[in-house]
Amino acid sequence: MKKALNWIVISAFLIFLVDWAIIGLKLLDNNDEFYVEAWLALFCLLVIVICALLKCMFFQKCPHCGKTLWSKGAYCPHCGKKL
Ligand SMILES: [Zn+2]
Repeated sequence: MKKALNWIVISAFLIFLVDWAIIGLKLLDNNDEFYVEAWLALFCLLVIVICALLKCMFFQKCPHCGKTLWSKGAYCPHCGKKL
């Protein structure tokens, strides 16, 4: 599941980059019609943000107290034990 999320994020990011390249080329070509590309970029960004949040919420938990860890550190901010 964690690997699948990583792959979704990587694919969405690659699609996002290619999408921006297409928008850039259209702008250089004085073509202002890139609504589909703009919506696709927004969708990719949403997918990336949602996957990052899901990853934090479900896969970064303290092994001692089980609470979600929003930052990376050597100690759990909730129970204070070493991670
Ligand atoms: Zn803890």
